[in-house]
Amino acid sequence: MADAASGRGARVVLLGPPGAGKGTQAQVLCQHLGIPAISTGDMLREAVAGGTPLGNKVQGIMASGALVDDATMADVVRDRLAKPDAGRGYLLDGYPRTLPQAETLAGILRDAGQDLDAVLLVDVPEDELVRRALLRGRGPDDTEEVIRKRQRVYREKTAPLIGYYRQRGLLREIDGNRPIEDVTAVMLRLFGLDHGTNHEAAGA
Ligand code: AMP
Repeated sequence: MADAASGRGARVVLLGPPGAGKGTQAQVLCQHLGIPAISTGDMLREAVAGGTPLGNKVQGIMASGALVDDATMADVVRDRLAKPDAGRGYLLDGYPRTLPQAETLAGILRDAGQDLDAVLLVDVPEDELVRRALLRGRGPDDTEEVIRKRQRVYREKTAPLIGYYRQRGLLREIDGNRPIEDVTAVMLRLFGLDHGTNHEAAGA
């Protein structure tokens, strides 16, 4: 059993459609594993809020529901993974999002003599995701059109990563269409970590 206080480290990719609750899951898992949750979406939103050159470049793209180009994202991720807190591992939430990004990550890992431990796919049916997103209604940009566009971009550009990582024996699939604490329990169990409070759900 891993020690929750120290964590044992791991390199994990969290994959799944927009709105599947990946961010929430990432926080819990990272706490247990003692690694930072690295959300490229959060990093870009911070850049936009801070009015940095990167932020100015990506603002319109993000608002439209499209993806920022792979070269820009490669710079963002390379810099972030070189920071000391990523030394014992990390959980990537929102990266990679395209096959070229997956190859970039593979290159970063290869250069460091490292491997991924797992790619977790949190899956939720698209109609349920759109329903949740509309309920949340974050801002003026979150129209049904933009929400649907994000789902389409996921299907076309990101979903191919499922096969890519399955082929490499890294994919672990988790049904995300269930209560959040059940999803958490299943995820922790995958890593041999005990959630402690929800044994029944973990066994489901
Ligand atoms: P997220 O919070 O992960 O849904 O990201 C919000 C937005 O940031 C996305 O809709 C994209 O416009 C942009 N973004 C985040 N991560 C990436 C990535 N890996 N590649 C391209 N664009 C990204």
